[in-house]
Amino acid sequence: MTARLDEARLPPVALGLRVQVALASRSLSLGGHDDFNQGQVSARVPGADYMLIKGALKGFDECTPEDVVVAPLDPDVPAPPLAPPELPLHQAVYAARPDVNGVVHSHAPHTLVFGATDLPLRPVSHEGAYFEQRIGRFTMTSNTILDMVTARGVADALGADPAVLLRNHGGVVVGRSVRHATVHAHTLERACRLQLMAEQVPGGYHTSTPADVLAKREFIYGDLAVRSYWDHCVGRVRRTWPDTAEWGRRRPSATP
Ligand SMILES: [Zn+2]
Repeated sequence: MTARLDEARLPPVALGLRVQVALASRSLSLGGHDDFNQGQVSARVPGADYMLIKGALKGFDECTPEDVVVAPLDPDVPAPPLAPPELPLHQAVYAARPDVNGVVHSHAPHTLVFGATDLPLRPVSHEGAYFEQRIGRFTMTSNTILDMVTARGVADALGADPAVLLRNHGGVVVGRSVRHATVHAHTLERACRLQLMAEQVPGGYHTSTPADVLAKREFIYGDLAVRSYWDHCVGRVRRTWPDTAEWGRRRPSATP
């Protein structure tokens, strides 16, 4: 490992992002994204050549800042032993999307089941309005994404969209920050769940008009709103696990 990936030398911005990745993990757990220790959330560190990503051994429900691993953006740089096997997925997305600084990959149940269908995602709910006509399906394999060739296939399927469904596997949601990616991972899971419910209703269902879809994207999913949803996510994490309030706080130096 190179000196720039030395965890002891992380700059303050990276230390803050490491806490955000751990908070995002816990929030995803509360949103039903758990699948043993599988799934990851990562944050690209601005101006650096590495990302921070939930380590391989911990589930979303138990991740702490210390379980977040420093991993290279460059797939040719050796990854640390605790980097998750699906690290190539994150590396490929960051390489393809300079606008993306946060990635969530999970096996959330409704997202996964929806991805197994051929249904277009429709604006049944506010959440569906965010993703309508901006989400495709990756079908090259339904296996774990373990190499860069497959990972680049995921990035291709993602294109310029905010998310892509991995058929019979799960979902990948991206954002301009790890906060945005996390909020929209919740958004996607709820969009899929509500549409799957609507699909069961005899007689069909109505959807938002195109004008409403655009208005919802602007207001309900505008930057200010997403920040407030993230704050709500963090609040829920802290109410569930009060010890998380200490994350990132400076501790008084130890007395001799
Ligand atoms: Zn996976």
